[in-house]
Amino acid sequence: MDRSTRTAPAGTPAIPSTGPWPAPASGREVKRHKWWGWGLDDVAFRWDNKPAFPPFAKDKIGLDLHELEQRPEPELSAYEVPASRLGEQTRARLVELLGEDNVLVDDEMRVVHSFGRSVTDLFRVRTGDFERIVDAVVYPRTEEDVQAILRLVLDEDLVLIPFGGGSCISGSVTPDVAEQRPVVTVNLGRMRAVLSIDETSGLARVEAGAYGPDLEDQLNAEGWTLGHFPDSFNYSTLGGWAATRSTGMQSDKYGDIADIVRGLRLAHPRGVLAVTALPGQSDGPSMRELVLGSEGRLGVITEVTVQVHRLPAQRQVIAYMFPDWEHGIRGMHAIARATDVFPTFTRLSDGPETAFSLSMVKEPTSTKGKVAGKVQDGLFAYLRRKGWNTDGDMCIAYVCFEGSKESVSRQESTVRGIVKRNGGISLGAGPGAIYDQKKFDTPYLRDFLLSYDVFGDVSDTAAPWSRLNEMHTEVMAAGQKALDDMGLTGFMFCHMSHSYHSGACLYFTFAFPYSSKERALAEYTTLKHAVQQAFIDHGGTLSHHHAVGTEHQPWIEDDITPVGVSILHDVFSASDPGRNLNPGKIITP
Ligand SMILES: Cc1cc2nc3c(=O)[nH]c(=O)nc-3n(C[C@H](O)[C@H](O)[C@H](O)COP(=O)(O)OP(=O)(O)OC[C@H]3O[C@@H](n4cnc5c(N)ncnc54)[C@H](O)[C@@H]3O)c2cc1C
Repeated sequence: MDRSTRTAPAGTPAIPSTGPWPAPASGREVKRHKWWGWGLDDVAFRWDNKPAFPPFAKDKIGLDLHELEQRPEPELSAYEVPASRLGEQTRARLVELLGEDNVLVDDEMRVVHSFGRSVTDLFRVRTGDFERIVDAVVYPRTEEDVQAILRLVLDEDLVLIPFGGGSCISGSVTPDVAEQRPVVTVNLGRMRAVLSIDETSGLARVEAGAYGPDLEDQLNAEGWTLGHFPDSFNYSTLGGWAATRSTGMQSDKYGDIADIVRGLRLAHPRGVLAVTALPGQSDGPSMRELVLGSEGRLGVITEVTVQVHRLPAQRQVIAYMFPDWEHGIRGMHAIARATDVFPTFTRLSDGPETAFSLSMVKEPTSTKGKVAGKVQDGLFAYLRRKGWNTDGDMCIAYVCFEGSKESVSRQESTVRGIVKRNGGISLGAGPGAIYDQKKFDTPYLRDFLLSYDVFGDVSDTAAPWSRLNEMHTEVMAAGQKALDDMGLTGFMFCHMSHSYHSGACLYFTFAFPYSSKERALAEYTTLKHAVQQAFIDHGGTLSHHHAVGTEHQPWIEDDITPVGVSILHDVFSASDPGRNLNPGKIITP
């Protein structure tokens, strides 16, 4: 299949990319978040159909949903939005390049493009903290458009911030408050087509602005999948994934984006850097690796060549229960070590996360659902008789299998044996299917909690298997101590996911009602820093898949040493001497 007009191999009929997958005609048609929160305007978290959630929230963080009043949705008109600093002449030059509808300077669009979607971003937009926002949002349609924008940016000494879905949670798309030059955000959302698929090699060339669903829809139509499903899938793009070294929940099988990206094109001040998609290469340092995770500091990724896989014949998610975290980790480690199972993903919730998940179960409306509820009650009673603590210690795990019917069934049977040998039991496919269906809904919970003055956020790390238990214990203790020292009631939980040969990712979630609007960010920072510092102190990284941006910079020296930081500094300052490309991200300056 080939839809590109640029480099179709000889003999391949070229299908224009505006054909089967039309680019949005203008910037306003490009999908985007609501200005004050995650995702679509009319989608929100609901608790009225989850009977166990209100008592859980009251018990853990003192949030009485029956008593407290939810804050109304914020109104942008209530806040003062600084005027755009883009000069009229510059705007006219951009309009000449891209057309009036692809150069936007209105308040709402500039606000939406000035923040990622971390909980501090959400707090800042909700409270109108708009001291410095971007001055224009532009929407290129082609790589040539991107190059022309880049030339103009350098010519007029502007600042350029590439923008995918704006789902980052490390401050990577937010301009520096001290930046005096006009800031132009380049939204890649009109460049979202799969250009071609080399079916023999399993390589697809894709425009960098493709959102997760756009990309999977186009690939699935041809019988392929990328297999990259971050929780932010609906609102993040291929270019953003590459620029932040993203990881999807199915990384056990499909790899991190750093494995999936084989080639790319980057619009750089000196021209286009083209990295050919090859299975291996011995020239180093690797240009591909240099661009991955560069967060817009080296230029704009316009196209990515990714490895794609045939859609599996069968896919099954099975749930398991372990008596506690230590048994669960031992089981997950044994699965990672098994030579005859190749799970698509493995995930283990700790006791508190398991309790949280159970509190989120919807009230059953069908007879089948009601029967399943009774079966679960009976099972938990049986486990309690066996000595399990079903209210805080037991840990739910999910393992996904893909392949032929025979392969899925054989792997499932092997894993059932491993789980049993490590003290766990299989719960079958029912809970697994529920997990699979609701996996992209949880981001809406953070907006809901903020409307009750509660912060709910995450921090993730990766560590070797030998240190995962220590990491879990110490991070939980550090977080709890920070909350206690501030006199706050909070709740923390964790899961293990993204299993590798040598270790795994630990993903911590914390929630607490802040004491006042004035102290909210300071309280958040105290807790976040305690968690991050514990990552470093116990042999982990500053983040497994949430990039550096500005939020994680305090720990970059710990991660790569001062020498590493100085090398990065040399690369960025030589590549972009005028500091025009997303300055201040990853390292300062
Ligand atoms: C609720 C939630 C869940 C999340 N879950 C996951 C998860 O499971 N896994 C995961 O990896 N991450 C996750 N994230 C973080 C985020 O989704 C990732 O960092 C994602 O890769 C960002 O992609 P984006 O398209 O939204 O990029 P943006 O947020 O728009 O940009 C991020 C950075 O990349 C740069 N950039 C974007 N596009 C380009 C381009 N074409 N060329 C050069 N630079 C570019 C930007 O300048 C910025 O520095 C989550 C975030 C949220 C809010």
